[in-house]
Amino acid sequence: MNPLDRLAAAKLWLISDAPTSGPEPGPGAPAVMPYLAHALYALTPVLTPEVARMTCDEHWRVYVNADWLESSPVREIAAELAHVTWHLLLDHAERARTVNVDASTAAPWHRAADATVAHTVTPEGLIPPGLATATELSLPEGRSAEEYFAILSRLPTTPSDGTSTPLPAGAGCGSGADGVRREHELPPDADASGLDSVEAGQVRRRVAIEYRNHVTDIGTTPGDALRWAKAVLEPTIAWEPLLAGAVRRAVGWTNGHTDYTYTRPSRRQGAVRSFVLPGTRRPLPSVAMVVDTSGSVDDQLLGRALGEVDGALAALGVRDSSVTVLACDAAVHTVTKVRRARDTTVAGGGGTDMRVGITTAAALRPRPDLIVVFTDGYTPWPHQPPPATTVIAAMLGRSSAQLPPTPAWAARVECLLE
Ligand SMILES: [Zn+2]
Repeated sequence: MNPLDRLAAAKLWLISDAPTSGPEPGPGAPAVMPYLAHALYALTPVLTPEVARMTCDEHWRVYVNADWLESSPVREIAAELAHVTWHLLLDHAERARTVNVDASTAAPWHRAADATVAHTVTPEGLIPPGLATATELSLPEGRSAEEYFAILSRLPTTPSDGTSTPLPAGAGCGSGADGVRREHELPPDADASGLDSVEAGQVRRRVAIEYRNHVTDIGTTPGDALRWAKAVLEPTIAWEPLLAGAVRRAVGWTNGHTDYTYTRPSRRQGAVRSFVLPGTRRPLPSVAMVVDTSGSVDDQLLGRALGEVDGALAALGVRDSSVTVLACDAAVHTVTKVRRARDTTVAGGGGTDMRVGITTAAALRPRPDLIVVFTDGYTPWPHQPPPATTVIAAMLGRSSAQLPPTPAWAARVECLLE
């Protein structure tokens, strides 16, 4: 029998339906991991005597020892397959990089990652020989690989030594589990090229959908794999940096723009060549914030969004005295110059018309260079942008799908409550 046929048999064994009787698959009975199908058939097998059993790299290539394949029961091959496949699904290689795992710390990371895999495959009765559970390592159950690594290495924030020393072939489960290259692994562009990161992402998404349905049915205790499935299917984008970035760009632009017109070479300046005229200074922009105070806006979310804009403005050196806050529902209630935007008294609570707020803001003198509108979006918008002003629409809500459209002339940032 071709050794690869045994690998194929192990895949089939893993994804076969179990008999409906009996709570757990017993020894020799088919296992119940149908949700792994897409992942198992995305693997590229590479036979090599360099590994004792089976390892994986980041391109979803699995390196398998042919002698081991021929001499091992299908069930054991299946257990190892599930083991390395979960390393790839859980993206242990990329996660290892974020905690600076290198050749010197690959061993504790490997034990940490294996403990999370053990937690995931235990309900299916499929712990491969040598895979230590959290309990066996005296660790708490159901935590993440990063938490286990912090405990096992006791060096959670040691910076990487920056070297890319490969590890010997036999070490751990391969670079697919820790991001550290092994001597026996093929280069990324080899004939057996495996998956790229986009393809891997698609496989993870399909498996996450099926895994979540599966664990919902059997009521498994949550662990790293369930958190992973949730994160793959419901990614939360951190909006705070996006909002701060939009403010920085707007203020940077207004500064640069004003600078340009101010320092444009005049006839007089041309006469003195490249001499910089005295009195040239970088003008500080003035900023208006229009806050939707109709009842439908979440106070906590509004506070966080205001705080983020405050922080960005402070970092840019925008003086508090040049920030005006307008509380607005169907009318403008208060126009205040406040030290901090979140100190503003919120008035109103009726219907919503941000057009009134934007028009009032645009009529302020000095004219604001930037207007930030905080709203749930259930408002009419002006047809035209206010002249010579950048507008950011900070859209506050629970989900992206729920938020109404904004005009093309406003920079939209969706601030979602998790
Ligand atoms: Zn492993």
